[in-house]
Amino acid sequence: MSEEIGKALQSVRERVQHAAARRIKTLPAIDPRLVAVSKTKPVDVVIEAYRHGQRYFGENYVQELAEKASDPSLLSSCPDIKWHFIGHLQKTHINKLVGVPNLYILETIDSVKLADKVNSSWQKKGSSEKLKVMVQVNTSSEDSKYGLAPAETAGLVKHIREKCPSLEFVGLMTIGSFGYDLTQGPNPDFQMLLAQRDMVCEKLGLQIDSVELSMGMSSDFEHAIEVGSTNVRIGSTLFGDRVYSKAVKEGANVTSTQNKS
Ligand SMILES: *Cc1c(COP(=O)(O)O)cnc(C)c1O
Repeated sequence: MSEEIGKALQSVRERVQHAAARRIKTLPAIDPRLVAVSKTKPVDVVIEAYRHGQRYFGENYVQELAEKASDPSLLSSCPDIKWHFIGHLQKTHINKLVGVPNLYILETIDSVKLADKVNSSWQKKGSSEKLKVMVQVNTSSEDSKYGLAPAETAGLVKHIREKCPSLEFVGLMTIGSFGYDLTQGPNPDFQMLLAQRDMVCEKLGLQIDSVELSMGMSSDFEHAIEVGSTNVRIGSTLFGDRVYSKAVKEGANVTSTQNKS
């Protein structure tokens, strides 16, 4: 397992570097951050990837993240680990998330209410540092997707910067529509997130290179980087396919019985 993870990391890092070299020169030359998405994978896999130099990891369920991040062997082997929360955050789970050791960026703030609640929860924790947050935008306007409507992005960013002193706004995030065919041209979700950043920066007087873009997953991270992503979230290409339920192979007996003559 160790060698496989090391090789996969090596290969993805190279692909990230090459894609960054192809990036349009007018875009900020920010080194893309590779976030290894470890959801459904055991703690050993995280530790192994850490041993191969990986530092940023992503999870999308609070409970799963809390368990992994507080695991004693992980805590002792991975002192410098940095967790990204990339899932939908329910208000009832905020306090649990805020208590996660080594939480680095919360990528999925999508309402003023959520921002306020996370802000006060982080304030109560009494950390000396602000919690880094991104605003998740529903760039494809699909009802099934979380994230806020593009028209509300600047308002939420302004609210975080002015009314949430315990939070630090660091960027915009999108998941994008599933299975977009890149032969059709640049992914419109990514173009939309870029336009959102321009708009936010213009309205609020921010520097473009101070606002990160979290976009791109296993199937499209190279394209995402070429068009300006600074943070890619990669799971299956690093760790293999995810298995969500334990396969119970009840059919096995039947087959062997049938083989008897
Ligand atoms: C699971 C997940 C990913 C990683 O997906 P892969 O296709 O396995 O790379 C990225 N972002 C989010 C928000 C996810 O939930």
